[in-house]
Amino acid sequence: MLGILAALPDEIRDLLHDMGPAVSTHRVGMRDYHHGMLHGQPCVLALTRIGKVAAAATTATLLREFPVDRVVFTGVAGGVGADVRVGDVVVGNALVQHDLDASPLFPRYEVPLLQTSHFTADEALAALLHRCAAEFLTQRGGTAGLHRGLIATGDRFVNDAAVVRELRGALPDALCVEMEGAAVAQVCHEFGVPCAVLRTISDCADQDAPVDFATFLREVASVYSAGILRRFLAALPA
Ligand code: SAH
Repeated sequence: MLGILAALPDEIRDLLHDMGPAVSTHRVGMRDYHHGMLHGQPCVLALTRIGKVAAAATTATLLREFPVDRVVFTGVAGGVGADVRVGDVVVGNALVQHDLDASPLFPRYEVPLLQTSHFTADEALAALLHRCAAEFLTQRGGTAGLHRGLIATGDRFVNDAAVVRELRGALPDALCVEMEGAAVAQVCHEFGVPCAVLRTISDCADQDAPVDFATFLREVASVYSAGILRRFLAALPA
């Protein structure tokens, strides 16, 4: 069974609608887990809410309460890579917590006692997401770019060009910044469940970041998310 997670209601609204009336909803720890069939696949859809703790708690509950054997997170992010623009799509190869620093006890970014800082996305899931995103963007036309690489996660909405410069210096490979991905990937790693993360770039993490966020979410990000995940579900091996 596939688990689909997102932080904001807009990001799963269309998929929830696709599940139709047969959906059953379980409420655990202030989260709703919607269980049903989605484009031929048994799925659980849930909103994590925003931030690493919220995302980790939701992921752990998802994996304990349902026989979920793969997880996809979909959402928006701020672009930090040099050629990453608003409207582009990023598929994560790896995820790192840019705000984690237990030095000098552990190297910067390393998760204490896990001996790792970067959680890798499942290769097969990420490759399929990338292919479906490419097909979706081609069909839609336009100039949106598609990227695959490192996603940086932290408990901070970045809307400051100076912070972006710092991030680029510290994590030069990072394509975008968001607030949940690495937390989901860490919990999936600890439970031994493959996962992947898909992000549409909503802003460039600078002073203009909050502008038109709601409009972008409704008119672009949710359309991309549903369009790409519908293809993904149809192509996913049972
Ligand atoms: N305006 C929104 C708040 C969104 S917070 C609201 O009213 O609810 C940002 C969410 O989008 C988080 O889930 C995060 O993962 C993602 N995100 C988008 N741009 C971001 C940025 N520049 N920095 C950090 N997270 C960002």
